[in-house]
Amino acid sequence: MIKLIQPYISFDEVKKDFEEIFDSGWLTKGKYIQQFMQDLQHYINIKYAYATTSATTALSVCLKALNIQSCDEVIVSDFSFPATSNVLEDLGIKPVFADVCLSSFNMLPEELERKISNKTKAVIFVHALGNPSGISRIQEICKYYKIPLIEDAACAIGSSELGIKAGAFGDLGCFSFHPRKLLTTGEGGAVVFNNQCFEQFFEIKLNHGAVYHQGKFDFIDFGYNYRLPELQAVMGIKQLKKLDKIIQERNQIREVYIQYLKPLGFQEQEINQNVIFNVQSMVFVVPKNISRNDLITYLYENGIESTLGTYCLSGTSFSKSKYKDVQKNAKFLEDSTLTLPCYQGVDVEYISQTIKRFLTK
Ligand SMILES: *Cc1c(COP(=O)(O)O)cnc(C)c1O
Repeated sequence: MIKLIQPYISFDEVKKDFEEIFDSGWLTKGKYIQQFMQDLQHYINIKYAYATTSATTALSVCLKALNIQSCDEVIVSDFSFPATSNVLEDLGIKPVFADVCLSSFNMLPEELERKISNKTKAVIFVHALGNPSGISRIQEICKYYKIPLIEDAACAIGSSELGIKAGAFGDLGCFSFHPRKLLTTGEGGAVVFNNQCFEQFFEIKLNHGAVYHQGKFDFIDFGYNYRLPELQAVMGIKQLKKLDKIIQERNQIREVYIQYLKPLGFQEQEINQNVIFNVQSMVFVVPKNISRNDLITYLYENGIESTLGTYCLSGTSFSKSKYKDVQKNAKFLEDSTLTLPCYQGVDVEYISQTIKRFLTK
């Protein structure tokens, strides 16, 4: 079976540090998490980074940092993993779904401007499947209307537009280290930002609402435990070091895929000029006359794992029953995108030939 994903980490790489952690007995809030966050700050070129248990918890705390209340509205890219809008529902915030571009799969600037109202308290831009294309334009619009911007960069570690890394455009940026993402710690995430005004908030909220003062804890607020343990930090540190090389490799594989599949009518997720794309997922829009689901089944029968691109948030059973209005482009992309295996050693020729056989079946 050609697997859809394969993590870029082995036991050999972490063994020594794991041993040290077990020997010391220091399993959380230690030097490795500090190192991982420092490395992340450096890599993204941003002032603050806090590890979390997931992108979902990171996004949720960001909404609280911006003091967004129930009944406020947040405009959100409609093509994403449902966690992006689940965090809004959880807090009673109304998601206003902005439709996406059919070539980049990212929020359309004109959709954003059309949906801004005086109830809009923030915008969540999703780097769809790792693609940062258009984030700088969305940043401009948010600045113009003075609306805080949160980046759901769950998929976008290492991607950049105009030399600025994903996560560094918004007031707050969130990452995921789930195994489906390029850099994984099993589960995990991070929130990053430049503005010092958020520092105390995250420092306290992510640590049970406590400050450490004169040898004891003072609980000055209520808070959470969304911390990432030390072993996970080791995994993160190792992968971050080789991330740029991995991204280069994936872009080469992407080029080969495009060479094989574009002539067959497959359309790749497009990127803007001045973009570095981490190729988090190798996604194509399938040709009009074929069934994407049948193709996934056929590939599976031929030993190749594949899946859909991602989801139309306004089109989930939950959203549809609550809000009715399903966004057209996002729905089209949910139904017609295909994710293919993409990592070193993957046999792109075999996969492409199998797809060709399906087309002429
Ligand atoms: C994976 C993903 C999430 C959720 O990440 P977790 O770390 O699993 O919580 C959120 N948003 C997007 C766009 C994602 O791809």
